[in-house]
Amino acid sequence: MKKPKIVILGAGYGGMITASRLSKELGYNEADITLVNKHDYHYQTTWLHEPAAGTMDPEKTRMKISEVLNLSKIHFIKDVVVDIKKDEKKVILENSELDYDYLVVALGSEPETFGVPGVFEHAFSKWTVNGARQVRDHIEYMFSIYNNEDEKRNELLTFVVAGAGFTGIEFIGELSERVPELCAAYDVPREKVKMYVIEAAPTALPGFDPELVEYAMNLLESRGVEFKISCPIKEVTEHGVLLADGNEIKAETVVWATGVRGNALIEKAGFENMRGRVKVDPDLRAPGHDNIFIIGDCALIINEEINRPYPPTAQIAMQQAAVCASNLKALIHNAPTKGFKPEIKGTVASLGGKEAIGIVFDRKLYGSSANFMKKMIDNRYLYMLGGTPLVLKKGKNPL
Ligand code: FAD
Repeated sequence: MKKPKIVILGAGYGGMITASRLSKELGYNEADITLVNKHDYHYQTTWLHEPAAGTMDPEKTRMKISEVLNLSKIHFIKDVVVDIKKDEKKVILENSELDYDYLVVALGSEPETFGVPGVFEHAFSKWTVNGARQVRDHIEYMFSIYNNEDEKRNELLTFVVAGAGFTGIEFIGELSERVPELCAAYDVPREKVKMYVIEAAPTALPGFDPELVEYAMNLLESRGVEFKISCPIKEVTEHGVLLADGNEIKAETVVWATGVRGNALIEKAGFENMRGRVKVDPDLRAPGHDNIFIIGDCALIINEEINRPYPPTAQIAMQQAAVCASNLKALIHNAPTKGFKPEIKGTVASLGGKEAIGIVFDRKLYGSSANFMKKMIDNRYLYMLGGTPLVLKKGKNPL
């Protein structure tokens, strides 16, 4: 009998766990599995605020796909997906085309600008390894030129983070921790550095426990961060940001972290979507497409308790991947598929240094205990993917 062809697009949290599970759960003769990704490495998106602020070597966030997946069972193609022709069951890549019987779309997200002009032209918005390296190098360059210009321009040392969600808070946590070291290295008086976090919603970390939000804001303010809450950004310009209240903050560095939308290929392929995310069926298939699974940041799942979408997270992407792999196996064996329900075990945000906040198994955690938990969560993922050797190679010291 002809083996079904399974094609997985994207080697992030969703794609990697799907591929890894399928390679373990299906025999050699049960399916041809192909994984496509634009790089030959997988990276830890959830760590990128660290290399972006310069507190972690970017190399630590990435790993060769060939070193963590069993490529005797998975055919890996390094290429860029340019279109999905769902009616023809074809994927168009930059350098070739692929036919599939089953498709898994796990292509992640893109920055959401909410229509604010100037984001792509003047802000740093790419949460990728190369994007993080660019932010780190730019920050260092700003420090390095400050003392070398005749006119002392404050905007060189003004850093604006747009968005006080998880990504924005984790990034400013790292940056505020690093600023004293940068000031010492580049002979810059500490009081010259200004850091702003600008948020349109009425609170930082919307939806998070208010006590933990207060802890985070107090800590970051003690490191010199200034919050502007309920303060939408009207435009990003080459000189900084224009605010809806009419004020302007002059800054040579604007980091965009206001949230994400699904990969643009979702819209291009003609899936019904909301901001690039497909409201998938309970078993994670795209409505009307029995052979296409959509997982991770490209999928939209409603939290019935509050009738709002779950925020896209790595935690949910990995859980979906496990269910997606098991449903693919079920389809190949003509067995019924199962429904997906997120099990939110906890949420922890790092604040730089040995500080973090979080809720894990309904318990609030602050400071070093939250930081310990955050690093254990990071190491657990490495363990799931590559066992103890990967934890030893790439893992974080939780103490
Ligand atoms: P991704 O992990 O983004 O993977 C998508 C993959 O597809 C990438 O490898 C990409 O290169 C590839 N790709 C994209 N387009 C193409 C193309 N056209 N062709 C080929 N390949 C392509 N979540 C948490 O649960 N906890 C956290 O603490 C947390 N912290 C975060 C911190 C930061 C700084 C950021 C940016 C995000 C954080 N998140 C966190 C969110 C989390 O990273 C995402 O929800 C998660 O990465 C989504 O997984 P995914 O598999 O859908 O996509």
